[in-house]
Amino acid sequence: MPQAKAFRAPLLHCLADPREVGIESSYEYFEDGLLVVEDGKVAQIGNAADLLPSLAAGTEVTEYPEALITPGFIDTHIHFPQVGVIGSYGAQLLDWLETYTFPSEGQFSDMAHAREQAQLFIGEMLRNGTTTALVFGSVHKQSVDAFFEQAEKLNLRMIAGKVMMDRNAPDYLTDTAESGYADSKELIERWHGKGRLHYAVTPRFAPTSTPEQLTLAGKLLGEYPDLYMHTHISENKQEIEWVKELFPERKGYLDVYDHHGLIGPRAVFAHGVHLCDNECKRLGETGSAVAFCPTSNLFLGSGLFDLAKVEQYGVRVGLGTDVGGGTSFSQLASLNEAYKVLQLQGQKLDPFKALYLATLGGARSLYLDDRIGNLQPGKDADFVVLDYKATPLIDYRLGQAKTLQERLFALMILGDDRAVKETYAAGVSVHRKA
Ligand SMILES: [Zn+2]
Repeated sequence: MPQAKAFRAPLLHCLADPREVGIESSYEYFEDGLLVVEDGKVAQIGNAADLLPSLAAGTEVTEYPEALITPGFIDTHIHFPQVGVIGSYGAQLLDWLETYTFPSEGQFSDMAHAREQAQLFIGEMLRNGTTTALVFGSVHKQSVDAFFEQAEKLNLRMIAGKVMMDRNAPDYLTDTAESGYADSKELIERWHGKGRLHYAVTPRFAPTSTPEQLTLAGKLLGEYPDLYMHTHISENKQEIEWVKELFPERKGYLDVYDHHGLIGPRAVFAHGVHLCDNECKRLGETGSAVAFCPTSNLFLGSGLFDLAKVEQYGVRVGLGTDVGGGTSFSQLASLNEAYKVLQLQGQKLDPFKALYLATLGGARSLYLDDRIGNLQPGKDADFVVLDYKATPLIDYRLGQAKTLQERLFALMILGDDRAVKETYAAGVSVHRKA
């Protein structure tokens, strides 16, 4: 029998979407809680007073008194080959791609570079408490090999795919419809379902794929069970006009993907800032998901994501950082910006709903809520220890807070990687703050 381990701390996790069950029934909180982990999974969660007496003799108990344990954060949209251009000045989506993104992604033809970047990139996610992410590679299959090698070493639950892009990009970054299909297939065979890894068929966005390539992307989804589909949609108004010019025969942006069989469960569309009602309805009825990327939408001047509208149609919504268009790996920082994006539209983001978006909501949009997203027994033991004393200001502000809701909100507005004391994947520490 594997040795159980226990963690004693205040524990908070979501049980359901506050939108569906109300705030009070949406979460579970144990002021003096105990999380028991066995074989990489949650074995028990509850009050320390109830669970401690039944622990097997000799079980190691790690205590975090001035902290809060939550499930690991889930990032439903991020780019592995764009770490080097995070925080680059003065562009909107289309010139951002030309000026910064494409040259940075070009370097990933070099496996040594890709491996070095994979360590940096995954290290940065773990420093920020992110234990699962849906990740864009570059067009080169070795970028995905490098990413998955590192994720496998750390036994992380990760989803990634090679970009498919056969037009409207520099020669050094394009595949062909056939090579994109063949390379993706090779990566699927090598990685999909290995350990905790999953593959996502990843056309960059409609403008950079020919109809032939999109058809082959759809074919891949039909050939293997449980693959993901990961792309962008309706981020920027110029982009939307361009899609109309390139696909005049289609009814709109989403219809391009729909026509090629690229929507449905496990299809995740980043941004969706300018989706119309019909598109939201179609995404909702097909079980597709949208990744809300607030830091990126503000930074690239793309617009304000209308969470209420999208959710009204039953669309699954996760939270994305969209590094490098996004400006932080931190889901706390993303929630800080999400709150402001919604404020500007007269919407409120309750802190429990915010936690839901960053954890169980993300898991639900990835159809992984039976494995991750909260700390119910049987789930993967992926969790993060948030530090109530992370900075002098956080320490002082939380000292003034009278309720859990107030503490959680202040932590999300003031917190970032400094608020992450330790990150665990499958019950093993994968990052500890120095
Ligand atoms: Zn993106």
